[in-house]
Amino acid sequence: MLHPHNLGAAVQNNPDTTLVTAQAPITAETHGGRAKCLQRLVRLELPVPRTVALSFDAVKRIARGELPDIRAIVSQFPDGALLCVRPSSEDPDWGGPGAILNIGMNEVRFAALKERLGETAARAIYTRFVQSYAVDVARLDPDVFEDVHGEGCEGLREALRAYENELEEPFPADPSAQLAAVLKSMARAWDGTSARLLRQAKGAPADAGLGLVVQEMALGLGQGECGSGVLQLVDGDTGLPQITGRYLSQSQGRDALEGDAAALYLRRDPRGASLEDLAPEAFQDLQAHAALMRAKLREEMQVEFAIENGALHILDGVRVARSSQAAVRIAVQLADDQIISRAEALMRIQPRTLSELLHRQISPNAKRDIIGRGIAASPGAATGQIVFTAAEAQASAARGDPCILVRRETSPEDIRGMHAAHAVLTERGGITSHAAVIGRGIGLPCVVGASNMRFILSKNQLVTKDGRVFTTGEVITVDGTSGEVLAGAPKMREAALDESFRKLMDWATEFCDIGIRANADTPADAQTARNFNAQGIGLCRTEHMFFEAGRLTVMREMIFAETSEDRRAVLERLLPMQREDFTQLFRIMEGQPVCIRLFDPPLHEFLPSDRVGQRELAEALDLPLSDVTRRIDAMSEYNPMLGLRGVRLGVTVPEIYEMQARAIFEATIEVNSTGTAVVPEIMIPLVSARREVELVKTSIDAVAAAVRTERDQAFDYRLGVMVETPRAALRAAEIAPHCAFLSFGTNDLTQMTYGLSRDDAGRFMSDYVQQGVFPEDPFHVLDTDGVGELLKVGAERGRAAQPGVTLSICGEHGGNPESIAFCRDAGFDYVSCSPFRVPVARLAAAQLAIGAVM
Ligand code: PEP
Ligand code: MG
Repeated sequence: MLHPHNLGAAVQNNPDTTLVTAQAPITAETHGGRAKCLQRLVRLELPVPRTVALSFDAVKRIARGELPDIRAIVSQFPDGALLCVRPSSEDPDWGGPGAILNIGMNEVRFAALKERLGETAARAIYTRFVQSYAVDVARLDPDVFEDVHGEGCEGLREALRAYENELEEPFPADPSAQLAAVLKSMARAWDGTSARLLRQAKGAPADAGLGLVVQEMALGLGQGECGSGVLQLVDGDTGLPQITGRYLSQSQGRDALEGDAAALYLRRDPRGASLEDLAPEAFQDLQAHAALMRAKLREEMQVEFAIENGALHILDGVRVARSSQAAVRIAVQLADDQIISRAEALMRIQPRTLSELLHRQISPNAKRDIIGRGIAASPGAATGQIVFTAAEAQASAARGDPCILVRRETSPEDIRGMHAAHAVLTERGGITSHAAVIGRGIGLPCVVGASNMRFILSKNQLVTKDGRVFTTGEVITVDGTSGEVLAGAPKMREAALDESFRKLMDWATEFCDIGIRANADTPADAQTARNFNAQGIGLCRTEHMFFEAGRLTVMREMIFAETSEDRRAVLERLLPMQREDFTQLFRIMEGQPVCIRLFDPPLHEFLPSDRVGQRELAEALDLPLSDVTRRIDAMSEYNPMLGLRGVRLGVTVPEIYEMQARAIFEATIEVNSTGTAVVPEIMIPLVSARREVELVKTSIDAVAAAVRTERDQAFDYRLGVMVETPRAALRAAEIAPHCAFLSFGTNDLTQMTYGLSRDDAGRFMSDYVQQGVFPEDPFHVLDTDGVGELLKVGAERGRAAQPGVTLSICGEHGGNPESIAFCRDAGFDYVSCSPFRVPVARLAAAQLAIGAVM
């Protein structure tokens, strides 16, 4: 046997089982975050009990049955010391097996501790160890100890007897054997399937390693003031400075947090006794140590501590668990205190954390009675009474009752109902379907494609998989963040746009090197875009404007017009309304670019599909019903999304684009006259051939010339093309010379590249993703291989033919961090996304810029 001194040297020189000293070779990547943190605490000369760290490699070998030199480890600790073992995964958030305390307890030490600490403390320590060893190491059912009720020593003896009866062997007495068994059991637990799945769900790689730390126990039980607790300097829910935690006399581990009424507050508190009163010096030291940890570890830490006969020990430090709001506040405060840089503060916030802040959410600890699931199409949650039509939604809003609009799928006719509803739920549709796009645009929680519920609209019923029936007026909750539909009204957490959020956004703007615009159709959208500091509007879908009250009938009249002259006459009536729309947008955007897309959808979307609507239309137009139905039937298309829409209407029914162009130019003159310089951008949708652009450009140039002459006013404008057909991307070289900009509409481009209907893909998308056919829903996460190749080809060819051409993306992908990375790499000038996604996009872009120089 080696001399104990040499054994110590063996541990110190062995990186796989190393004493945690200031210089020991410990990294988070080899020994885990907890071991590294403990080393930092040692470097800060905090009163940390002696600790040995086992590396990932050592633990892997232990799991295979190859134990390290256990006696060498034990020899690092004073004779008779009790030990604890805790997990140390690379990222503490990945978790690990529970800690095991008081290793080394046996009859001899029990007798010695009785002398030193008194019988009660010694017995509590021994009993706790026997039980946790039995359950966590020997894997006995915890029920085995249910019948252990004996008071005093009898309880301990009963526990030992229960162990021996179950395992038919004595409780192990040798501390080294106990430690070896604990290490083996924890190493193997890490390899278990459920542990693996759990940590992978938290982002851990499949082969993530586990380190272990073996630490001398600071007992927390015994003579004088003894106990344990945790302290942190901020509230993990709000992120505001507040000493938070509990302390419990005569306790170990995290007992103080288990709701024991005897647990003390830390700071003096009117609600009850405090550690500050009980042990003022220890409290002062604890507070000072926590502040030092914050400054030097550059993070808000939760300090786990024990007091042993009045002396304070710092056992551990873990990153404070935090809500999204707290995460932002903490990062900003650390930067304001110059503990971390602004760049680091930005890097610490996950972009999707922001989207949680922007919307009401279901409180994380609320009970969820889930009745259905679909695609999480627009984040946030809302509760309300079920309504099945847009009209009911409006009536509900008029009464002041929150409602959830439930539809098979929504169409432009539902827009006002959507505005009136608190959330939308649809049976069909995917991430770029109508409900999803509008929902994200106006910040309305939305779940689409909820195909695991039955929508029996004829009976106004929503039927869940297990047969529960929900009907008009019943209260449900739509969680657009998770895609869940819940019965009733769970507790909510409000959106939290505070000063810290605004600061973080300002800092992000300083770092961004790609523009972020918003897709905004209405003055309200534009205002939201301004509030989030969007650098302009990247897509204004003008067709939504025609569904406004008073316009739809005029629009229908226009569609029914027999001749070009008749059409023009009707459009004359829409002109002032359109002019007012654009004037408002230009005013709100105060000279920032506004990109207006000319009319895009097939005309029959504006026509009523049911008998009642058709009869009303016949009355309004003073036509026989049969005429109306015949015309509607004649306009129906087998495949409207690939039919007469977009620029195809611009070429075949040019009066609509001419009216829109005139409205844009007249609004430009109006706003220019107030001192705000406006250079409108006009975008042609669904282009697939150069000639389409030439024709539309000629006609719009003619309108511009006419307006300039009539008004005797000069103005500029930029004309561009929406690249959303594969052919437009491939032929960008001949299209770009006619354009000031090319904006990639990745919704349609994805639809057409895959030949996959964006409105129907929801039906099988989850099967496709589950079976690995697609890594993700390509309408949600840009397919950088296929659609991305078209983007690259289009951008390269367009730029080569027209070097100054502005490149951007305005499909729903524009707000996704992955797509932003792609666009930035491809040299795009800006991305445009729903207004509520602007902050997420801005943070993601800032992180990319920071990451590029780090
Ligand atoms: C697109 O197709 O990517 C786009 C932005 O337009 P829309 O969603 O209106 O078709
Ligand atoms: Mg499109």
